[in-house]
Amino acid sequence: MNILVINAGSSSLKYQLMDPETGDVSAKGLCERIYIDGRLTHKVGDKKVVKDIPMPTHSEAIAAVLEILQDPQEGVIKSVDEIDAVGHRVLHGGMKFSDSCIIDDACIKAIEECIPLGPLHNPANLMGIRACQAVMPNTPQVAVFDTAFHMTMPPKAYRYAIPTEYYENDDIRRYGFHGTSHKYVARRAAALLGKTDFKMINCHLGNGSSLCAIENGKCMDTSMGLSPLAGVPMGTRCGDIDACVVQFICNKYGMSVDECLTMLNKKSGVLALSEKSSDFRDLEDGEKHGDEKCILALQKFFYEVAKYIGAYTAALNGVDVITFTAGVGENGPETRQTICDYLGYLGVKIDPEKNSKRGKEMCISTPDSKVQVWVIPTNEELMIAQDTAELVNAAK
Ligand code: AMP
Repeated sequence: MNILVINAGSSSLKYQLMDPETGDVSAKGLCERIYIDGRLTHKVGDKKVVKDIPMPTHSEAIAAVLEILQDPQEGVIKSVDEIDAVGHRVLHGGMKFSDSCIIDDACIKAIEECIPLGPLHNPANLMGIRACQAVMPNTPQVAVFDTAFHMTMPPKAYRYAIPTEYYENDDIRRYGFHGTSHKYVARRAAALLGKTDFKMINCHLGNGSSLCAIENGKCMDTSMGLSPLAGVPMGTRCGDIDACVVQFICNKYGMSVDECLTMLNKKSGVLALSEKSSDFRDLEDGEKHGDEKCILALQKFFYEVAKYIGAYTAALNGVDVITFTAGVGENGPETRQTICDYLGYLGVKIDPEKNSKRGKEMCISTPDSKVQVWVIPTNEELMIAQDTAELVNAAK
């Protein structure tokens, strides 16, 4: 089966053509500068081509992707008919989607109704969907939501302690994000352990970071909230913060709430504390050279992640497995070691030799560790392709 996975942003569109069973990616790429001019970067194996192609809208971007996929030199298919289905990443499914969904008019309407919850991403995701529908009207399309995996949280985890009317009238609650990644890692952990009935905490640590408390494969709590701003500090996002900070800054500096939120989303996190970079490689480099601000940024990040692990251990009444994933979680031995140093009280013991590896799926705890600790590289595209194939096959 060939599934085309699409992740449409406001001016960009990432794609992968993959086999959902093997995970083999036959081609992948990126359309950038949509609405500005348009550039396509297309990769097949190690071969990469970059082409400037006018992309006044997402439709031209999708058309360019389909054209290059069928190109006699650069392509990997002879006809669009070889694409069995398209899986779209959609940011916010609100309370309407607890699972992935075959795209029809009702699904599109529901995604539209979630725009107030995901004002930046959902419109872009919809543009990607509509553009695909226009150029490949007979190919089934599936929406896979970043929020869906978290819909199993109990009310005590998802409700905010604010007046009920905001929940009942406006759907204000914790939703959580990175759901596709948390779901992939949870499934992979179950496959690796050969069982499903265990308690796990997944640490998705990348440029954006979130933790997820998972019991028997289901999300019980997660650190992001109504938006991806909440939780641990991230590359440029502040993470959890007292709402009065917003009031204080807006009043003192004459900022609007939107301006203040832009600062908290784009100029905060480890970038703000280090005054150097949002990239953990730069922070580790600064740390090696004794840069106090980089050291504080890293310490704050490790400390907050460890605090969440402690909180989720309490929430789950124990933990059997801790998993690390995403850019920093997969590639940061120091990050994993320092976070796990906080967890001695849980009987967590890391094997330094195993932990020194980067980007490899493996157990990094010692045989006598009371909690198994794993690195499981995430693969959101594969999860999207698998969900898409599952739904499309079931509908046949
Ligand atoms: P992601 O958002 O999952 O793509 O993660 C991106 C982040 O992963 C980057 O900002 C880096 O800080 C981090 N990262 C990637 N490779 C490494 C590495 N080899 N060592 C430490 N951090 C890394």
